[in-house]
Amino acid sequence: MSNFFNTRLEFLRTVGSTQRAQLLGKELGLFTYGDLIQRYPFRYLDRTQVYNVADLHDDLPYVQVKGMLRGKELIGEGPKQRLTAKVGDGTGELELVWFKGVKWVQQYTKNNQEYIVFGKPTMFNGRPQMAHPELEEVTEAKPGQSFLQPVYNTSEKLKNYHRIDSKAIMRMVAELLKLAQSHVVESLSPALIEHYGLMSKAQALQQIHFPQSPELLAAAKFRLKFEELFYVQLKLLRQRDQRKVTLAGQIFNQVPTLVDFYKNHLAFDLTGAQKRVIHDIYKDFCAGQQMNRLLQGDVGSGKTIVAFIAMLMAADNGAQSCIMAPTEILADQHYTGLKVYADALGISIGKLTGSTRTAERRVLHEALRNGTMHMLVGTHALLEDVVQFRNLGLTIMDEQHRFGVAQRSKLWQKNPHVIPHVLVMTATPIPRTLAMTLYGDLDVSVIDELPAGRKPIVTVHRYDANRLKVFEFVRDQVKLGRQVYIVYPLIEESETMDYKDLTDGYESVSRAFPEFQISIVHGRMKAEEKDFEMQRFINKETQIMVATTVIEVGVNVPNASVMVIESAERFGLSQLHQLRGRVGRGADQSYCVLMTGFKLSKDARTRLETMVRTNNGFEIADIDLKLRGPGDLMGTQQSGVLDLLIADLAKDGRILSESRAAAQALLTEDPDLVNPDNGNIRRHIESLPASAVNWSRIS
Ligand code: ADP
Ligand code: MG
Repeated sequence: MSNFFNTRLEFLRTVGSTQRAQLLGKELGLFTYGDLIQRYPFRYLDRTQVYNVADLHDDLPYVQVKGMLRGKELIGEGPKQRLTAKVGDGTGELELVWFKGVKWVQQYTKNNQEYIVFGKPTMFNGRPQMAHPELEEVTEAKPGQSFLQPVYNTSEKLKNYHRIDSKAIMRMVAELLKLAQSHVVESLSPALIEHYGLMSKAQALQQIHFPQSPELLAAAKFRLKFEELFYVQLKLLRQRDQRKVTLAGQIFNQVPTLVDFYKNHLAFDLTGAQKRVIHDIYKDFCAGQQMNRLLQGDVGSGKTIVAFIAMLMAADNGAQSCIMAPTEILADQHYTGLKVYADALGISIGKLTGSTRTAERRVLHEALRNGTMHMLVGTHALLEDVVQFRNLGLTIMDEQHRFGVAQRSKLWQKNPHVIPHVLVMTATPIPRTLAMTLYGDLDVSVIDELPAGRKPIVTVHRYDANRLKVFEFVRDQVKLGRQVYIVYPLIEESETMDYKDLTDGYESVSRAFPEFQISIVHGRMKAEEKDFEMQRFINKETQIMVATTVIEVGVNVPNASVMVIESAERFGLSQLHQLRGRVGRGADQSYCVLMTGFKLSKDARTRLETMVRTNNGFEIADIDLKLRGPGDLMGTQQSGVLDLLIADLAKDGRILSESRAAAQALLTEDPDLVNPDNGNIRRHIESLPASAVNWSRIS
């Protein structure tokens, strides 16, 4: 049955020839009937409403009016010739004009005949005009249709040289839909269709192309989006479930040291969100299956302590653990922070980075191999093959988007007997909808609560012209004993220019604050130099840190309470939020100052306003998604899951949640899809090539 949709387009009468079929393939990626029927219109012309001529104005899109055609007149000669006519409807008179196809229009239109006139109105000397309108006779038998007319994307080449415009594609789709009637197979179960009130597949395909009303169009869109997202989620959830069944994990159910830690060493109360996440992890550790969990938590929400507690559970059960950070600075910070706890608990912890000396390295390697070292903090260096563990039970990746899949699998191989549990932590807030799709095969925990007593960061937007005042403010804050970051953009394409911005900035900051010590950190410095400067700042030897975005991720200097971001309009919203997260980590009131010039794009303004308005990373991520679309968000490019035909992750969050719930319910009830009631779904999946990324496609 599905073979019909694999038919090549050249067999469609309205396509007409092999050559035109090839053009459709080359220009638009349309090869088969299935491709064409799923090339949905990108918009519709509203032909449901008839306007009065008196109500026409320049700002209207394509509209239609109905009236009597009169006074056809050919004006001019040769190539300059044009045809004009008038249409009156009792409220006014609309002038029509044609510059092309004049003869044809002249021949086939009749004076004193009523027409539906469709086109884009423009005002000329206060009078409405339409150039190249479409005309349709109104007769007794055919009183003028009302419908939404589909508009299809096509290419300039197809339009200009091969007469394949949106209308031509519309005709092809119309023919195909007639032929396809008996071939469209329902791909969702009767239960789903009933429960969610979905339109049938056949009707949805008809209505998405040729909607009979806006309501039917909406129902068709809902049905097709639901189906698309349902199959994406079904696939991801099945992958997750299969992995759980096939991959065993070590069981960590003993917690004596953890209890000691809670009772005697943990200096603060965990937040409710932290407790919940720790419970999620503990449940995973007791399940006997390998954990793959994503931990999302806004900057400063306290992910590190959760990581440490998970590592402690591993240690309590005789397994080793490692935590991998994307930079040396971060690895240092984790190590310094965690060592205090580990020492107090009598647990041995080590650090391995690119700059670890060979002699030290040898000792570390040995301790990891013989199991006397329980915890390891490091950078990419710990992926090297020489790093072998006696029994690695848990690997944690901090700020995950910097690590690729290949690296993840390298970590897996560090335990040849039982694959280690994996915890991925990220502070890049990803909207829930996107996380469900991107990480749909991971279990997700969220820390959506900051530790008590944090003062929200005060964020303001200032123009460059007011820099002196901003610097005064900086001076006052430093005099109060605080430290300050001043960040400049670094965008790869124009690295030289940015470098100049940074060095110029450094000079002007040095001139403005001769009484203070100033650090500088940027991407061109060697790791040791960077660390040296960073360390000076951490030790309060310097008061101001001038930097590029290299300080973006994870760095923790609680005494730094002011973040000035230069050329803030050049940063993305998530990045601004990340940068702001470097302050607000101590007891003092913190500030973030966004500096820009006067000229700002609309999007840039939205970004700045959002930053000023809210500190909530998830809200910011949602707005970021809406501004940029999912394709541009970090880590989404390679994922393929975003290769969607109709659903839009930025807008269809609700449909996504519903379809995921539906997929989850289905798998819980009928994991192998053996119930005859789910036959439509099983047959649909079976009809697809094994490699298909998007399970909702017709093929
Ligand atoms: P992030 O989630 O950004 O990695 P960190 O783990 O670095 O955040 O935590 C930020 C700061 O908050 C650290 O100084 C940490 O000790 C502190 N912290 C974490 N949890 C709590 C808590 N429940 N109460 C008070 N302070 C906490
Ligand atoms: Mg962190």
